[in-house]
Amino acid sequence: MGAQQSSVNDVHVVVVGGGFGGITAAQHLKSQGLKFTLIDMRDAFHHNVAALRASVQPGFAQRTFIPYAETFGDSFVQGRVDRVDTARQTVCLQGGTEMFFSHLILCTGTDGSFPGKYNTVASYHTAIQTYENLVKQIQAADSVLVVGGGASGVEMAAEIKTEYPEKKVVLVHSRIGLADPELLPSVRQEAKEVLLRKGVELLLGHKVNSLSELRLNKTHKNTVVTTDKGETLITELVINCSGLRINSEAYKEELSGCMSNSGALKVNQHLQVLGFTNIFAIGDCADIKEPKMAYHAQLHASVAVNNIICGLSGKQLTSYHTGNVTMLLAMGRDDGVGQFNAVKLPRFLVVLGKSRDLLLWKSWREMGQKYTHTEINTDTPDAVEEIHCEN
Ligand SMILES: Cc1cc2nc3c(=O)[nH]c(=O)nc-3n(C[C@H](O)[C@H](O)[C@H](O)COP(=O)(O)OP(=O)(O)OC[C@H]3O[C@@H](n4cnc5c(N)ncnc54)[C@H](O)[C@@H]3O)c2cc1C
Repeated sequence: MGAQQSSVNDVHVVVVGGGFGGITAAQHLKSQGLKFTLIDMRDAFHHNVAALRASVQPGFAQRTFIPYAETFGDSFVQGRVDRVDTARQTVCLQGGTEMFFSHLILCTGTDGSFPGKYNTVASYHTAIQTYENLVKQIQAADSVLVVGGGASGVEMAAEIKTEYPEKKVVLVHSRIGLADPELLPSVRQEAKEVLLRKGVELLLGHKVNSLSELRLNKTHKNTVVTTDKGETLITELVINCSGLRINSEAYKEELSGCMSNSGALKVNQHLQVLGFTNIFAIGDCADIKEPKMAYHAQLHASVAVNNIICGLSGKQLTSYHTGNVTMLLAMGRDDGVGQFNAVKLPRFLVVLGKSRDLLLWKSWREMGQKYTHTEINTDTPDAVEEIHCEN
């Protein structure tokens, strides 16, 4: 099935989801002068790559949220897409608003536990406040238990121990190997060694019992956590870094026939959803056999927008090819491990390339904005005092 438009003037690209994939697609569309609307449930882009630093460093969170409206003006609409109607070429927003699309780019990403993810309908200030509240909870706890030893859990444990070396930090992981299985074994081993050197205690091959019943992100003395192998741990704070799932709510009714078991959309090499020429899926919600990464979402966005333009001008479409894995893990601001194009990197290069700033500069640049510090009184959420000092 294809787009119903007779000329470029009839083009209206709707981008659902303003994560890494969505903002990159929107910026390409803007620079090409194509009419588009970016829809996200929040009012600010979340650079969640830095979400874990924002959980430990007071005042850091506001650097991780970048308001959409300043960049995209009226081409940004805040709202949650409930449904897609492929026959009528509309997306339906919560509340009943419908929006026509000639082309649709779906990039609804993944959801997961706070603090790694913050997929909540909330204002910019509430979002920042929520991270500042977690900083206070971590500061108040003498011991922290991090659940999940994937990339997020490894980074979280390292961030806490770097900022607060005196705290006891335990990382519990259901498997023996830490971080992503796509990483070189030597990189995964180095991640483990860095954690041990920082003083993180590891409990590997253990699954935490009844995780959904534990009180997360709130300091509470003598919290008892048990594991499936019979271990009992006493801690003051539990942070969950496990369990990402695809955000398929917007399209699961209409596109269920194109979904994999995980909820991701099956796409061809041009990133078109199977059976459609005018609907694309990019980023975490595209069913592509590669690690779910911001870096990949941005590469997908370029291919999808380029293919919309090629389709309009009758040119041959470009294809997306997965490359060798490039992945950097920030292990606190002073350490990190990773690989570039399947070659292990020296740790100092990861620190320079990622750990110090967590690539925040890149997102602010891509959004065409300059970070302006706003003093937020974190004791009284409503009191916000502006002091402009450019970074
Ligand atoms: C803690 C952490 C650290 C990470 N570090 C790195 C890293 O260093 N490098 C890297 O490359 N990757 C990293 N990743 C992975 C990276 O964050 C994701 O791969 C990336 O965010 C995917 O981008 P996306 O655009 O597909 O989706 P997302 O970033 O998940 O964005 C989806 C957007 O869609 C919106 N949305 C969802 N459903 C709807 C709806 N129905 N209506 C309206 N809006 C909707 C959401 O509000 C959200 O803004 C990290 C992930 C985590 C959790």
